[in-house]
Amino acid sequence: MFGSPASAKGVVLSDHALAVERLRWNERYRPKVPRAQRICRLCVRAVEDETHALFECEGDAELTRMRSELWAAVDKEQPQIRRRLRVAEDALPAILQEQSLHGLLAKFTHQVLQLYEAVPMRVPEGAAVV
Ligand SMILES: [Zn+2]
Repeated sequence: MFGSPASAKGVVLSDHALAVERLRWNERYRPKVPRAQRICRLCVRAVEDETHALFECEGDAELTRMRSELWAAVDKEQPQIRRRLRVAEDALPAILQEQSLHGLLAKFTHQVLQLYEAVPMRVPEGAAVV
């Protein structure tokens, strides 16, 4: 379905609605927000980027449940993957290397992004021009 891990990542995550991406750009009445201030809307404890949203955030019970389901499915298909992971940043590239997991990952990513989109993004007060 996808040619390479890089293009799969593009298909899965390009133009997504996470703060790390959305707040990169100047919008009308709001200047660009520094990366460190693009804080997760669910847990308010870390930068809201792909790795955090998909593999780290514990700010929402439904999100952690969906992640457990993803790992259970990954473990069933490719049990060696999780043993190779050292840090959360390894998870996305490791899963993308396995063509057979792309469908699972795409579905999971879609669900996670929907969950994020249902909650208003945190825009730092100083960045908002009223
Ligand atoms: Zn979070």
